[in-house]
Amino acid sequence: MSSSTHRVQLLRAPEAGPRSGTAALALARALGIPRADAALLLSAAPRVLPRGLPLDAAQRLLETLRAAGADGSVLEAPASGSRCAEHPSLEDEGPCEICGARICAVCVLARGARRCGTCEGRLARSRRFQRLRVAVLLTGLCVALIWGFSVQRQRDARTTWTRPLRVAVVLLGEDDPAAQVLRDGMPRLEAWFAREHLRYRPEGLKQPVQFQVFGPVRPEAPLPWPEDSSSGWLARLSYARTLQGALAPLDATVDLEPRAYDARLYVVVESGTSGTFAEGVGATGGELGLVRARVQGEDATLALTALAHELLHCLGATDKYDAQGHAMLPQGLVAPELAPVLPQQQAEVMVGEVPLEAAAGRLPNSLDELAVGPHTAAEVRWAAQ
Ligand SMILES: [Zn+2]
Ligand SMILES: [Zn+2]
Ligand SMILES: [Zn+2]
Repeated sequence: MSSSTHRVQLLRAPEAGPRSGTAALALARALGIPRADAALLLSAAPRVLPRGLPLDAAQRLLETLRAAGADGSVLEAPASGSRCAEHPSLEDEGPCEICGARICAVCVLARGARRCGTCEGRLARSRRFQRLRVAVLLTGLCVALIWGFSVQRQRDARTTWTRPLRVAVVLLGEDDPAAQVLRDGMPRLEAWFAREHLRYRPEGLKQPVQFQVFGPVRPEAPLPWPEDSSSGWLARLSYARTLQGALAPLDATVDLEPRAYDARLYVVVESGTSGTFAEGVGATGGELGLVRARVQGEDATLALTALAHELLHCLGATDKYDAQGHAMLPQGLVAPELAPVLPQQQAEVMVGEVPLEAAAGRLPNSLDELAVGPHTAAEVRWAAQ
């Protein structure tokens, strides 16, 4: 008779209670496994216990188990050759589903899956890593959201008009008379903002906008201008990044700390003899404006108009001219209540010309002929929407 051809077939687990502890201890001794593993095997009845025993040992074990309320029998069964890699005293129950290593009933019961200890550990580590990665991603997302909200709040705070807006004006180009004319014009533009602000808010700030002039500074390369204002948001985003990249070294040169300002306007000043012109780009609701202006003689009206226009874009104002560049009615009018509505006396700042008759206007001669219309005033929250 072979010494290991008998096995205990467990049909019913012992009853819970102190005697089940005795049963687990006896099983642990007989099978050569930890007591916790033995308890696991007992709880998984019915099953054939995974170790061949000499007949007398098998019978003694069954008696002890019966005394604890379990039931079963002793079977004669051929000995199995292969053992569990982790529990060398137990016979294997087939391969690990991942690596093929030999595993036993205790392995399967303990993990609730046909996996060996090595593979289980690896899986647990990768699950932990996965959770960590998700946590890191979520944290990043939260930081980005909070950052986005705080930028938006800072931008919104600019149009509560409870404190003066700080605006940096960076002159680009030569330190020539044109730059000086523009520099001299800045206090007049501050006064213009104060005058227009008080028209809508009689109790408002005496000085709603403060300009600080930097430069002139010469850019290493010409500044990038947007190709087409109607291009998609991706092109605009990529343009904004290109522009930021081009402006950063200029900020450093003139010692400008961008975060210290609510908005920054960069002005390419050109002096010319053939008339004046101004054009600009400003991101609606952003903090950057770019203006190219020609100054002739002492007259900086158009350049100052362009600066006001781009700054108001930054504060949320929209253009109010049509495809031909004339005022849209009525939102492009300073005094839409006039009857007849045309001609107007002043140019709306988001249009840039004084409407004279349908589809015709003229440039303002001075800042006295430039004003903020009710639509723009509502957009920048000077007036109720
Ligand atoms: Zn494995
Ligand atoms: Zn095992
Ligand atoms: Zn515009």
